[in-house]
Amino acid sequence: MADDCLFCRIVRKEIPATLVAETDRCIAFRDINPQAPVHMVIVPREHVASLNEARDADLIGSLSLLAADIARTEGIAEAGYRTVINTNRDAGQTVFHVHLHLLGGRAMAWPPG
Ligand code: 5GP
Ligand code: ZN
Repeated sequence: MADDCLFCRIVRKEIPATLVAETDRCIAFRDINPQAPVHMVIVPREHVASLNEARDADLIGSLSLLAADIARTEGIAEAGYRTVINTNRDAGQTVFHVHLHLLGGRAMAWPPG
């Protein structure tokens, strides 16, 4: 836990968020600035700054599997969706608590910008 980390504060429920799922290791909530009709952020409860610092394969894998569960619940699994982990400057990471974006509900362009 990092005292001043935004996503740790959401995990601790010190900052409100629209939670969509909670497991023993992760939570998922709606992005405050959605880039698609469905845009969730899935974060481990444990503070890990970015994928560069991640060491626990199960923890990182649990983010993807929870995204697939939420996609099914949201009704976008068949049509499709995108999962993204932005890491550091070139990817545009702005919150340094590792997180997986789940985006769907519209067709996505490729390659991403
Ligand atoms: P990044 O740019 O680091 O990959 O993604 C951070 C994401 O967190 C952004 O999509 C941003 O909109 C979202 N975000 C930032 N602050 C908050 C907040 O206070 N609440 C919620 N729900 N999302 C946030
Ligand atoms: Zn954190």
